[in-house]
Amino acid sequence: MRIPYTDVLAPPTVIPKSANTLIGAVAALQEFLTAPSPRGLLNSTVVLTGAGISVASGLADYRGTNGTYRVNKTYRPIYYSEFVQNHEARKRYWARSFLGWTTLHKAKPNVGHYAIKDLGSLGLVQNVITQNVDSFHSKVHPQIPTIELHGYLRNLVCISCHEELPRESFQGELARLNPAWAAFLQEILESGALDTENPDERRAKGARTNPDGDVDVPGAPYTTFRYPACPHCLVSPPKTPDGDRAIVQVDPDGAWKSTSTAGILKPAVIMFGESIRSQTKLAAEQAVASASRLLVLGTSLATFSAWRLAKSAKDRGTPIAIVNLGGVRGEDTFFSDLDPLGSGALGARVELSTDELLPALVSELRQSSSNAHQHKDHRLEKHGALVFKDMLS
Ligand SMILES: [Zn+2]
Repeated sequence: MRIPYTDVLAPPTVIPKSANTLIGAVAALQEFLTAPSPRGLLNSTVVLTGAGISVASGLADYRGTNGTYRVNKTYRPIYYSEFVQNHEARKRYWARSFLGWTTLHKAKPNVGHYAIKDLGSLGLVQNVITQNVDSFHSKVHPQIPTIELHGYLRNLVCISCHEELPRESFQGELARLNPAWAAFLQEILESGALDTENPDERRAKGARTNPDGDVDVPGAPYTTFRYPACPHCLVSPPKTPDGDRAIVQVDPDGAWKSTSTAGILKPAVIMFGESIRSQTKLAAEQAVASASRLLVLGTSLATFSAWRLAKSAKDRGTPIAIVNLGGVRGEDTFFSDLDPLGSGALGARVELSTDELLPALVSELRQSSSNAHQHKDHRLEKHGALVFKDMLS
């Protein structure tokens, strides 16, 4: 994954024009989702989501008004190579992650995720591809297959043996190995300083931050932060490429020692500079290739992997609808050929939040489908009456 565009993108042109109100947008998307499939494709929709859909869960996106890039100008994510090669970088990463985990752990899926579940039940969504690492999709709609393009924070993965471990129990291990940080975490959780990413607000709530926007723990610098080794590699050290046994050493409390050559645990997310696993990439490409439409929700497609999926759909002539607050990378590519006075059946560009739009869309679709059923029942009744009449005569 590469560092995405961090600039604010130009505002979109809403298409069709009628989609500039909630009612208009709902109508356009209803058309989009229920129009006959082009080119005789099996009727199936793949949804592609990004950070925007989790904003209503209290998780920051990148470019929104309270997005990471706007409130914390010095924000710089860790690179995969740094994480793998540098013990000091890992200490800093895990210290930040230790403090940040509670926010993610407390966060719950929102109405947008539940609306996707409902769209699935209505037979209108068959696959989900997400760039989010919060696991909300798989939690809310396990019955709709979800491809997690950038991995997930719920687990850790060992970079030597590739075993996965749950992040939740690891948090307890970090607390045990870093008691000063654990005490400090309790204290600042109560102050509310971790409810914001904004370094100024954090400072105002009593959390000292360094120039990178990181929280500083008095008397316990990052350099003292400890993290555990992979328990599997500790018991049975893996082989190195030369065929020797790797070294996995821990201190008396079980913290990874820098004399080790293996057993490093990493969050099971794709870090910047790390490649998306080829089977994940392939699965996402196949999901898009076999879909008769692509519905993009809450993403500016700033990461190349997501943009390329949307572009491949466009190149194939697959109708695309995008719901996102704020601009989308190269969006002219997707919509310049659409009729601004169209119905939405061939594509739509809506600028509304997913938590506002999706529940309204679901309720409209339900209403229409129940009307259609009533119609059908009515016809049946009529038909039944005719049969009855035939039998009497
Ligand atoms: Zn391992």
